[in-house]
Amino acid sequence: MFNARHNNNENKVLTVKINRCPQNHPCPSVKVCPVNALSQKGFDAPVVDQQKCIKCGKCVRFCPMRALRME
Ligand code: SF4
Repeated sequence: MFNARHNNNENKVLTVKINRCPQNHPCPSVKVCPVNALSQKGFDAPVVDQQKCIKCGKCVRFCPMRALRME
């Protein structure tokens, strides 16, 4: 059974709320991701690599604009 990590986000997907992101700064959440699942081109809103994301929720807690949501 695939159950490497225990958290409440198994059935959720990390979503970037582009409208909430001011897209005018280096995304602070990119640096906190333990598996490099977030990337940013210029000051664009960050992009999630869903294959890499382990749904730990760190980036969600880090974004002051609440542009990253686990839902
Ligand atoms: S939820 Fe965790 S693994 Fe997924 S992008 Fe955010 S920090 Fe990275």
